[in-house]
Amino acid sequence: MAVERITNGVVVALAYTLTVEGEEVGRATAEEPLEYLHGAENIVPGLENALEGKKVGDHVNVTLPPEDAYGDYDEDEIDEFDLNEMPSDEELEEGMMVEVEDDDGYVYIGTVVEITEQTVVVDFNPPLAGKTLTFDVEVLALREADEEELEHGHPHSLDADYDE
Ligand code: ZN
Repeated sequence: MAVERITNGVVVALAYTLTVEGEEVGRATAEEPLEYLHGAENIVPGLENALEGKKVGDHVNVTLPPEDAYGDYDEDEIDEFDLNEMPSDEELEEGMMVEVEDDDGYVYIGTVVEITEQTVVVDFNPPLAGKTLTFDVEVLALREADEEELEHGHPHSLDADYDE
């Protein structure tokens, strides 16, 4: 049965541009679309809401405040580490993404914001936290998710960004 409209459990293929303060910071094209599973929080909540009920060929243009996107910027998400606690296999540079493991083995991804002689300051806010995002979206294709996709909470057809 063909899927007519976007609702929970539908795999959606999108082309989009994402701009922040007039500057383009992300895009997907019809040749290399973004695919996501609707209702599984694969995309920011404001965009997911705006796409509910849309069909192939629909255009959506939404401007989302931080609370509907990546959340407010949180100063408490900045931490300072001794350099010798950091993985030493690559040279640290300001602006690069690093993975930091806590005492319980959870891995957090952050951005290096400052390096001193003994310490490195890492910002664990999502890169777009605190930003107002404007998405210009075209709905390209819809299909029903299969059982495995529903179980995993993400689509498998393009699987570039997913584990399996
Ligand atoms: Zn999977």
